[in-house]
Amino acid sequence: MKLNKLIFTENACYKAGRKITPKGIMVHSTGANNPWLKRYVGPDDGKLGKNQYNNHWNQPMSREVCCHAFIGKLADGSVATYQVLPWDHRGWHAGGSANNTHIGFEICEDGLSDRTYFDRVYREAVELCAYLCRQYGLTEKNIICHSEGHAQGIASNHGDVMHWFPKHGKNMDAFRAAVKVELAASSGDTGSEPAPASGLYRVRKSWSDAASQLGAFKVLANATALADKNPGYAVFDESGRQVYPAASGGSADSPLYRVRKSWADAATQKGAFAVLDNAKRCADENPGYSVFDEEGKVVYTGKAAPAYTTYTVKRGDSLWAIAARTLGKGTRYTEIKKLNGLTSDLIYAGQVLKIPQK
Ligand SMILES: [Zn+2]
Repeated sequence: MKLNKLIFTENACYKAGRKITPKGIMVHSTGANNPWLKRYVGPDDGKLGKNQYNNHWNQPMSREVCCHAFIGKLADGSVATYQVLPWDHRGWHAGGSANNTHIGFEICEDGLSDRTYFDRVYREAVELCAYLCRQYGLTEKNIICHSEGHAQGIASNHGDVMHWFPKHGKNMDAFRAAVKVELAASSGDTGSEPAPASGLYRVRKSWSDAASQLGAFKVLANATALADKNPGYAVFDESGRQVYPAASGGSADSPLYRVRKSWADAATQKGAFAVLDNAKRCADENPGYSVFDEEGKVVYTGKAAPAYTTYTVKRGDSLWAIAARTLGKGTRYTEIKKLNGLTSDLIYAGQVLKIPQK
């Protein structure tokens, strides 16, 4: 993947400054015959080429649109990815609630008939998704295209990318399968541990059972994370020595810090990290999660999950009516007042109120 960064600091979406916790990825394509990145990404950084109409999206625009990245052609004709918003920035790409949960990227369409171009941008998109999955603890199952988002009721009615991929024998299931393969073959270039001088850490049921191999990694932490997700699997080094979990008599190279809601609830594990700071960062990104050491002791307590939901006041609302609707009982309006620090019963349309959990 050729990942470049040119953040759209002049786009209104960037300026809105809202953040999300990415829960998925939405694949889009632009719906216009223009494979050149410079149509959307600017100003020219020397690789994009100059947009003679100066109508790229890094400026105030009449339409409120912006995704997190574009895949298309550089001035020299090669294919590259440009990140244009921070990945955890709330984008405007889905026309629905997926904006609150999904990282969205656009593949620049050409005339839809050039197989060579398609193969290159498809490959680039697979690698971008694998990269984002590793960054945010996602899997290929968390990837959808815009038209699938519409079918799920979380995006507007657009056909992308299913008006294009099938022309070249692909669909979103094939795309997800390709990301899965990419993740399993992950070289773990986001890891923090140095790669061993040679060789890979392999995740298998046993060393002799090579057919059971789920993946091979340069970074031990990535291998142990995969083994953790698959009970019965272990991590082996190049010589076939089990390095994780520590084989009896042996010892693991380094302890791992696990990020979970609670130690007992192993299914909630977001990741396992050799470096404590990385585990802390992961916990910070996931309210309600903490970091545990090998013995299950809490070594870092992350932010508490919010104990409330929110409600935006509409015209004609009263605290009593809101309490009746959200909490089932008008008399509970006093709890809403207390949680929001209100000194009177006066509320106004557009006000965002915290609502206690039921
Ligand atoms: Zn779209």
